[in-house]
Amino acid sequence: MNDSQRVSLSRRDFLRATIGATAGSLIGVRSYGARRSSADPKQKVIVVTFGGGARDDETFSIDGQQYIPHLLNTLAPQSCFFTQVVNHGILGHYVATASIATGAYETFDNFVAQPPVHPTIFEYFRKDLRRPADDAWLIAPGSLFAQMGSSRSRRYGPDDGAEVILPKRLLSTVLGGNQGLELDSYPSILRDSYETPDTPDAPRTDAERESIEALLARMKIDRATLRSRASKFESPDDLSVYMTRHVMRTFAPSLIFLTLHDIDIAHSGAYSLYLDGIRRTDRLCAELWNEIQQNAEYKDKTTVLILPDFGRDGDSDPGGNGFQHHRTGSASARTTWMMALGAGVRERSIVHRPIESIDVTPTVAGLFGLDARLAQGKPIPELG
Ligand SMILES: [Zn+2]
Repeated sequence: MNDSQRVSLSRRDFLRATIGATAGSLIGVRSYGARRSSADPKQKVIVVTFGGGARDDETFSIDGQQYIPHLLNTLAPQSCFFTQVVNHGILGHYVATASIATGAYETFDNFVAQPPVHPTIFEYFRKDLRRPADDAWLIAPGSLFAQMGSSRSRRYGPDDGAEVILPKRLLSTVLGGNQGLELDSYPSILRDSYETPDTPDAPRTDAERESIEALLARMKIDRATLRSRASKFESPDDLSVYMTRHVMRTFAPSLIFLTLHDIDIAHSGAYSLYLDGIRRTDRLCAELWNEIQQNAEYKDKTTVLILPDFGRDGDSDPGGNGFQHHRTGSASARTTWMMALGAGVRERSIVHRPIESIDVTPTVAGLFGLDARLAQGKPIPELG
């Protein structure tokens, strides 16, 4: 048994007791077609990355359960839980998240802004189903991630991509106003990255500002409301979930990809801040689930997939510094979990078979009756 299997086995045993799943509810793989013959036209999918970089130790391990009360007590009992999700790719947040969105291990430099090579789920969805731009949205935590709304694929590309929101950039544009920037009042919300120098994610050129103003108008954002709400947010992810909710209520898109990132504050080395990030992400996932239940456009029509982009280094990994970074490539950093909820999901079930994070996009494509033909991952049969 390898380390990944050992971690996921203990998680399975624990969850079985917690969510009341019995051995009989472990799902076996059944034969299936890679593509549904007819998908429900009302099907909606929301993918949430529980990012950036959350270890088992602080989530679904026995010691970690105290930090994720909402996932554990409210969402897990309604979910199909995958105990072993392996990421074999580069453990950088942008490149890993882009790989989830394309279903293929992207290999570009994590710190250089560029679109992924393989087509994204947004492009399969929009081009192959002929859906309008406002039916697929990406909520990105920073300017790098904004590049993954579409790919460099010649067959697809930006014309078939997602509407992309950079919540911090929208907020900083709204705060700019005529009286000069008020960014200093919102420093904890506007921080762009936990790994690069701490600069607010403000628009940098007039053209950028104009395109953000156009997006604000298209989104029908009320500036005064946003200013006042933002002053009460704890973090960038609070802002991202606020924007996601706004998009759901305004456009009711069929496909949403929400990238959370607060947890990556772990790079600061402060364990308490890392735990705060996990607790907050746990709360925000529950808030999003509640929004789905209260929104008639989404209730009973939406499949939700929640997964970390990857883990973080283990406490005993040689060459690492425990939770702080994700540099060793160990099982602790590569092996996480996924929770599937909502439409078409068999509740109280656990899947122990290993899957990969690049299986998400082929699976989402399958839910829409599509074939993510250029992906490397495989549709997950338990969700087909
Ligand atoms: Zn990180």
